[in-house]
Amino acid sequence: MPLSHAKSRQLQQRAEKLLPGGVDSPVRAFRAVGGEPPFVTRAEGAYLFDADGNRYLDFFGSWGPMILGHAFPPAVEAIQQAAARGASFGASTAAEADLAELVTQCFPSVEKLRFVSSGTEACMSAIRLARGFTRRNFIIKFEGCYHGHSDAMLVKAGSGVATLGIPGSAGVPAETVQHTLALPFNNLAAVETAFAAYPDAIACVIVEPVVGNAGTIAPAPGYLEGLRALTSKYGALLILDEVMTGFRLSLGGAQQLYNITPDLTTLGKIIGGGLPCGAFGGRADIMNYLAPLGPVYQAGTLSGNPLAMAAGIATLQQLIAKKDSIYPLLEKTTAAIAEGVAAISHEAGISLTVNRVGSMFTWFFTPNPVTDFASAATSDTEAFGRFHRAMMEQGIWLPPSQFEAAFLSTAHDEAEIAMTLAAARRAFGL
Ligand code: PMP
Repeated sequence: MPLSHAKSRQLQQRAEKLLPGGVDSPVRAFRAVGGEPPFVTRAEGAYLFDADGNRYLDFFGSWGPMILGHAFPPAVEAIQQAAARGASFGASTAAEADLAELVTQCFPSVEKLRFVSSGTEACMSAIRLARGFTRRNFIIKFEGCYHGHSDAMLVKAGSGVATLGIPGSAGVPAETVQHTLALPFNNLAAVETAFAAYPDAIACVIVEPVVGNAGTIAPAPGYLEGLRALTSKYGALLILDEVMTGFRLSLGGAQQLYNITPDLTTLGKIIGGGLPCGAFGGRADIMNYLAPLGPVYQAGTLSGNPLAMAAGIATLQQLIAKKDSIYPLLEKTTAAIAEGVAAISHEAGISLTVNRVGSMFTWFFTPNPVTDFASAATSDTEAFGRFHRAMMEQGIWLPPSQFEAAFLSTAHDEAEIAMTLAAARRAFGL
């Protein structure tokens, strides 16, 4: 029997009168895949429950934070206790240094950090700091990488080195992005050419070390090392945007996995255990450029929020304590699901390329290897949409876009593997 969506549909209609598209973040509207966005009432472990009483196996984990599954009891308890003491003070609490200690323990490259309330803020502030520290204006970012919705980061694919940024959204003046160079990912030659063109003017290179925001794309061997070498050679800073990969690909993120030491790191998602929280940090000499010590201004009414700190501490404590079992388990479960579904698709004669690093992965509906945004864009998004709807109908909630990574949690187990593979067989008509 098809799932009922009557209540979610009603809630969507009401929301659309009040919120543009009925949502507070565009991808939630399901425009890329069609179908009805369910309204969530609660979540537990690996499952989401909607207003019509349907249960879904969750493959996006609030877009990354819920690595321990939903409503992880120690985090729930820590949030409740913090809330009872007061939600926000706008003054220092010990919890900020407590969480900072845990972060620096996981990320040795982060000597000092500052908490913010989102990944967007973390990246925006890290770039301002890089520009202030180097006294340079240009930044290099990569096509298909997302670093939040600040003006300078919303730049479309710019081809060629000297191509100046083209705003990727209405409302962003061209002048605002004239210093943003957007280059193809996994192409060191493009970065070398950019540095040769602007040897003294590039403040930083910001990169998702494993891209998640074009779907999952791994760095080619030597690519991150090459970015490290080029930034060092030209006196620019290397910023690893680990908002998605931090605490996910390993306790120390992609930088631990690939053994790269950045100058600055941006963090979000898992660091706040599902509450609004981000951070940027790195070399102490750079971080000391921030106000009140230095000339780079950055601030936030809710920065270091006690509830977010409590949820982050509970989450990181668990990851640190259980790292030797958690990361191998995530690897095993995610491999079984990602590669299992890919094998089923091949059995059904469907061309699908699976990209996976640890517990993040994407099934690209293309026969081509996906190594950058251009190759990701060869995917058949109609076919992805059909697959997405067929999986939703069977209670499997995949990220509602071909160009978003899927994430697993420690709450996904053998039963969830079996359920997903069975649903995929039916979705592919086997
Ligand atoms: N950087 C990366 C790599 C991200 O994946 C995201 C969000 N998906 C951001 C930055 C922005 O974070 P937020 O949505 O918390 O502002």
